[in-house]
Amino acid sequence: MNAEIISVGTELILGSTLNTNAHYLSKRLSNIGIDVIYHTAVKDDPKMLEDIIHIGLKRADVLIFTGGLGPTDDDMTKEIVSKVLGLNLRLNVSVENSIKNYFNKTDKIMSSNNKKQAYIPEESKFLTNEIGTAPGIYIKWNEKLLILLPGPPNEMKLMFNKYVVPLIKQDFVIKISTIRTIGISESQLENSLKDIIRNNTNPTIATYAKEGTVDIKIVAKGDNDKEVDSLLNEIVCIIKNRISKYIYSYLDETIEEVVFKKLKDKKMKIAFCESCTGGLISAKFTRISGVSEVFERGIIAYSNNSKIEELNVNKDTLEKFGPVSEQVAIEMAKGLMNKTKSDIAVSTTGLAGPSGGNKTKPIGLVYIGIVTKNMSKVIKCMLNGDRTSIQNKAALKVFNEIRKIL
Ligand code: AMP
Ligand code: MG
Repeated sequence: MNAEIISVGTELILGSTLNTNAHYLSKRLSNIGIDVIYHTAVKDDPKMLEDIIHIGLKRADVLIFTGGLGPTDDDMTKEIVSKVLGLNLRLNVSVENSIKNYFNKTDKIMSSNNKKQAYIPEESKFLTNEIGTAPGIYIKWNEKLLILLPGPPNEMKLMFNKYVVPLIKQDFVIKISTIRTIGISESQLENSLKDIIRNNTNPTIATYAKEGTVDIKIVAKGDNDKEVDSLLNEIVCIIKNRISKYIYSYLDETIEEVVFKKLKDKKMKIAFCESCTGGLISAKFTRISGVSEVFERGIIAYSNNSKIEELNVNKDTLEKFGPVSEQVAIEMAKGLMNKTKSDIAVSTTGLAGPSGGNKTKPIGLVYIGIVTKNMSKVIKCMLNGDRTSIQNKAALKVFNEIRKIL
């Protein structure tokens, strides 16, 4: 199901008001699985608005209007929408009473043109405005849905969340499933799923790249839960079969949360010693509430001296191979394991840049050492980006390697 947002108001076109409503609604609509395909802003001009409605009805399933529901003559959204749809405006006594109540409560004078706001198109539902006078309107018309909301952002948001979202959910079952991946680029992912992305309109499948991870969002719609669940499950299974080794979660959670849960299930403790990530891994991990159950400690061992003092890294190893080396990474993790008696000890040492790289040890080179009671290994990574990005990617990589081991 796709939507066009039509923002009505000369002030938006002239630049005196920023169109925050379109931004807000886009975000909220995509959260509930409605795909916004156009933003249109139009002056308070009856002919222009009429043209825009005709165009919108041709290209979108849902038209959401904001603005132009006020009492003055330049407010005409409701009138023009009714004209285009061929619906008569009828006085609605409940709306009239609620407008009267609003004026009684606020000690303001109700002018005669406020009565205009109590007219709503036949066969439509009105949406109560709890903090203003303009009611919203919800019209189902020939397979299309038209929703008229007031312009003031606080009125629009309240009405949208309290009344529109439940109505949409009642009229259409839309569900979203998100598959989270790591270790595969967006383009590789798209290649592996090209046919199913292209051939499916319900569910729709789209990829969203973040720093170091890619989410796959699957949106299905239908008449009932059972139908929608089976549409979703079918696609999730196909995707799972193709790329399972890159999937770290089917829920709305971070990779560190996945690691936390696995450690907790296995009643294991972990410790980190970080050089190039400077505490980022521990910081990300300790954002999770309850992590004390599994987190033994984090040490930032930045200088050579601290690697010797805190982790018992051999001075000769540091001199011979340099602090950014496979050998130092493993000695750090082993030293941490001896010190803490954790179930898993993890180290990072690398070059986050921008200065300090050379041909044999370029910027972005990061070693991750992992030691458990049964094994030890070093992972060599070549990461790209600026300093922050290299550090973030190193942290993600660490969590992903631990996830794989667990
Ligand atoms: P209206 O319902 O057209 O009378 O709009 C009332 C007020 O809401 C306007 O004066 C604007 O300040 C504000 N407004 C209208 N449309 C928007 C929008 N798209 N984004 C943000 N504010 C808006
Ligand atoms: Mg206006």
